[in-house]
Amino acid sequence: MNPTETITLREVGPRDGLQLVKAIVPTEHKIAWVRRAVDAGVPEVEVTSLVPPKVSPQFADAGDVAEAVVGLPGYVPSALTPNLKGAERGLALGFPKLNYVMSASEEHSLANSRRPSEASIEDFERIVEARNAGAPDTRLGAGIATTFGCTIQGEVPEARVYEIASRLAGLGADEIILADTVGYANPAQVKRIVAGVKREIGDLPIVIHLHDTRGLGLANMTAGIEAGVRFFDASVGGLGGCPFAPGASGNINLEDAAFLAESMGFATGIDFDKLMALRERVEAWLPGERFAGQLSQSGLPKGFHAAAAQAA
Ligand code: ZN
Repeated sequence: MNPTETITLREVGPRDGLQLVKAIVPTEHKIAWVRRAVDAGVPEVEVTSLVPPKVSPQFADAGDVAEAVVGLPGYVPSALTPNLKGAERGLALGFPKLNYVMSASEEHSLANSRRPSEASIEDFERIVEARNAGAPDTRLGAGIATTFGCTIQGEVPEARVYEIASRLAGLGADEIILADTVGYANPAQVKRIVAGVKREIGDLPIVIHLHDTRGLGLANMTAGIEAGVRFFDASVGGLGGCPFAPGASGNINLEDAAFLAESMGFATGIDFDKLMALRERVEAWLPGERFAGQLSQSGLPKGFHAAAAQAA
């Protein structure tokens, strides 16, 4: 394997990580969170969610966060958008990337977005039109929530996932995000579905968004790497959850995900000391929240060298 091959890890803590947090995090903490992640070498950060403040008061400050962090050098800032309205807002705020998310599960789609998945595909078509007309350089990630299963519906037909991936790609998505929204995925399934999606979308990049709800998060990431995926979402301290995933634990832990990638010989660009310092800071900001992860307990192995250092 080429030792300089890169795995991109996107910190989604300021978005997914804050979805279920009880306290409204002050805007200046969110801004500091993003700045510190960038300083630690994290190449992408999903900095906020462009949902109506009524739906999620946590993200009522999306505009202020965007104003402070979108222009920072050295990383790609992105925002999650559930619909055209959010996307129009994101385009106006100057985000270089927006991550649209829809659900492959009909029941999750109706509960979460109050519309069938077909309507969500049509919405993405309008988002692509808005992007092409107003900000053609903005990249559009297209996320498929509940790709690996759904707490409401149970099994989600793989054929439907492949069809949605194919159509989102055909409409103009720049990357396809396969999301294990509720932590149902297993490694064999990850390999099978990545292969199936690749058959539909060719070389278009795939991002995998994993939750560690049932302890398979890093095993699923490993399966994704082996299936050729080089882009994963994670969150500092493993924060995160979905309002429709009762008892769900968080995203895969960014520190452990970076260690997994680096120990397998992939460069992440991440400075572990700075990442650990960020985790400590976020823990101090969010007393009473559950933080996960092993590296923060155990530290790096003796003699460990980051892959990026070998490549330099
Ligand atoms: Zn998530």
